[in-house]
Amino acid sequence: MHPWGLRTERSLARKPQRPATSKSEGSNSRLFRVAGRLRDHQYARAIRMWSGVFKPEQMRTLLDRLPDDGLRDYVAFGYITGMRKGELSALRLSFLHGDAIVVPAGVCKNKKPRRIPVAGPLVAIIKRRKAAQSFESNGVTQLSEFIFQRGDGLPVSEFRKSWQSECIAAGVGAMFCATCNNSGAEKRCPTCKRARTYFGRIFHDLRRTSISDMIDAKVPQSTCMSISGHKTISVFLRYAISSDESKSEALEKTAQHRAG
Ligand SMILES: [Zn+2]
Repeated sequence: MHPWGLRTERSLARKPQRPATSKSEGSNSRLFRVAGRLRDHQYARAIRMWSGVFKPEQMRTLLDRLPDDGLRDYVAFGYITGMRKGELSALRLSFLHGDAIVVPAGVCKNKKPRRIPVAGPLVAIIKRRKAAQSFESNGVTQLSEFIFQRGDGLPVSEFRKSWQSECIAAGVGAMFCATCNNSGAEKRCPTCKRARTYFGRIFHDLRRTSISDMIDAKVPQSTCMSISGHKTISVFLRYAISSDESKSEALEKTAQHRAG
């Protein structure tokens, strides 16, 4: 689990302190250590990059930069539906029934099957993925059973390197050095030559973005939950990060209501 993956707005206001490290925290403690040692202005920058949701223009930039070998469509599908990475990778063409993808219970994290209608921007993605079903193996052309494959017929799995470098290039991520307190695009610190740590958007932010945008677009909560596959409202609400626009709108609406 990402250390700030499910943070609330309140926890965002605090600079993380160096935590009591335990073995169970694993690599997460390293990220916390880096965050704890950043100077305030750098921390503010890291937080801006790591606000958890993509703005539409940031998403367009990232999608344009990602390789169009299946990965771009995979990320776009995650951005549109808010689906978890594990579920996305497991999607098979056999799940397509008419105009919907029927995700079986075994694939859904909440163990409840759900239907995702192939509508809106999903139509073009599914059409492209169907056309890109074939792949070469030992000189033989075969058909992949997976909706998202990158030319090898296998489900999309490891793409951390391209994700991080394209997020950095799109301005929603950076590499930080905890020793020298500097940041930049290079993976190694130019001063101390140590490996820097990535701060920025993670894949799971697509889920937060999708849910937050659906709520901002006034999609009913129950509909959002049936698309995202959330079983409980409490977890769902942690993903719903309100935008400044929707908060301003709420304040204006309340004032109007009070004015009668
Ligand atoms: Zn350094």
